[in-house]
Amino acid sequence: MYYVKSEKRSMTICKKCFLRDLAEEDQKDLKKYLAAIKPNDRAPEALYEERLSVCRECDKLNEATCEACGCYVEFRAYARDSHCPKKKW
Ligand code: SF4
Repeated sequence: MYYVKSEKRSMTICKKCFLRDLAEEDQKDLKKYLAAIKPNDRAPEALYEERLSVCRECDKLNEATCEACGCYVEFRAYARDSHCPKKKW
């Protein structure tokens, strides 16, 4: 387990965790940033989940972040026209 500091408190996150795996109160930033992507620019739900399932198994996933690009994978996968920097999706 690893520890990520937030402004308010420390929270525990594992190497293979996504932000959505955190407690509900720790997901506010995730929900805010996903909501900022216009509906027409969002990946369909099935595609989003398919992308995240690939990320979950990837050795570049580290504490919700892609080590290849530095993005939170949930944000990267949510954008319709996005792509994996390692061409896995
Ligand atoms: S975006 Fe690509 S390289 Fe990054 S964690 Fe996901 S599958 Fe791996």
